Amino acid sequence: MVSRLAILALTALLGPTLAFADALCEFKGFSIFTDFEGGAAATCEKAGEAAVRLTIKPENTPINNSPWYAFKVESAHLDRVDIKLEYQDGTHRYTPKLSSDGFKWVEYPVDRLIVADDKSYVAFSVPIKDGMTWVAAQPLLGIDAYRKWWDTLTSSATPEYSVIGKSLEGRDLSRLLALDEQTELLVVLGRQHPPETTGAIAMMAFVNRLFAGDELSQKFLNRVGVVIYPFINRDGVQHGHWRHNLGGKDLNRDWGPFEQPESMQVNQDIARLVTAKNLKLGYMLDFHSTWYDVFYTQRDSDYTLRPEMTRAWLDAFELSMREVESDFELNRKSSHNPDSPTSKSYFFEEYKIPATTYEIGDEAPISRIQEYARRSAESFMQAWLSEESWYE
Ligand SMILES: [Zn+2]
Repeated sequence: MVSRLAILALTALLGPTLAFADALCEFKGFSIFTDFEGGAAATCEKAGEAAVRLTIKPENTPINNSPWYAFKVESAHLDRVDIKLEYQDGTHRYTPKLSSDGFKWVEYPVDRLIVADDKSYVAFSVPIKDGMTWVAAQPLLGIDAYRKWWDTLTSSATPEYSVIGKSLEGRDLSRLLALDEQTELLVVLGRQHPPETTGAIAMMAFVNRLFAGDELSQKFLNRVGVVIYPFINRDGVQHGHWRHNLGGKDLNRDWGPFEQPESMQVNQDIARLVTAKNLKLGYMLDFHSTWYDVFYTQRDSDYTLRPEMTRAWLDAFELSMREVESDFELNRKSSHNPDSPTSKSYFFEEYKIPATTYEIGDEAPISRIQEYARRSAESFMQAWLSEESWYE
């Protein structure tokens, strides 16, 4: 048995590849690591000189098919390692993204992926650059990216950062709040579902536009307070979950039961704000990702305190997008399912306000997401401001 001291000495001699990070597996020639925020693969098995088979497994079942994976492939001398991902309790969904530094990512060419007919596995060959390549279902977007975002936002605009509570595993539940004398309030929720990074990018771009500081933004913020809970399922992101929090529950099915600390504390915080300042809660937006861009809304015939708002917003947004994409067609799905305790159903039922689940396609390019989110924020502010009074 090699002593820890001897390994330390070796590490000092050979450099960081022998550091004490826990590899998921180590073989002669290469290693697989998942010891970072979002890192996830269940097992790994050597499948050749430079080939490995990984199983991708959810945190618990039943679960939505959003099979997240993220790992690093390290090798001192191999140029490539062949990877096969075998899915358990799910099927292939996310095109692999590769990175040599964990920040800049490229999508793996879809036509070079080998996907099983039943989508039970995907195989591809990962080039190793400078000894290490990151592979992930989506570009990693964790706490550092959020911190950077809200640090920029709070130094250039009005929102104040605070921590309203803790996740099940003790991580901070963050809030950004811009509220002085306004009497109306917009609620923004983000990242209830860990893999949904395109929705997170949209949330950031949408919020940035609200606080851009131009005339529209100033008018809006003079009238409307904004509260944002940008990163609700932090434990799920940390552990590379497909969907649930650490309690094994879908947080966006807990708006009503409030059995999980994350959704419960966010809800209590909103209720406290509304009561303490006697605010008129005016709209709830909850950012997510799915297969394509879509707005899940109430039906126009469903009773809300603002029956015109959603239609006015989305009609204006569609026209705005046509300035840059002449054939743009907005995708809106209107329904109300009182039996599904989503944030959308909850805010509609509890506060009688329109509430929208704002979904971005999994593989939408970042620049397109940002344009889409920015324009939708402009139309949203305009629609809100065009209603002089909406309270009864
Ligand atoms: Zn979602």
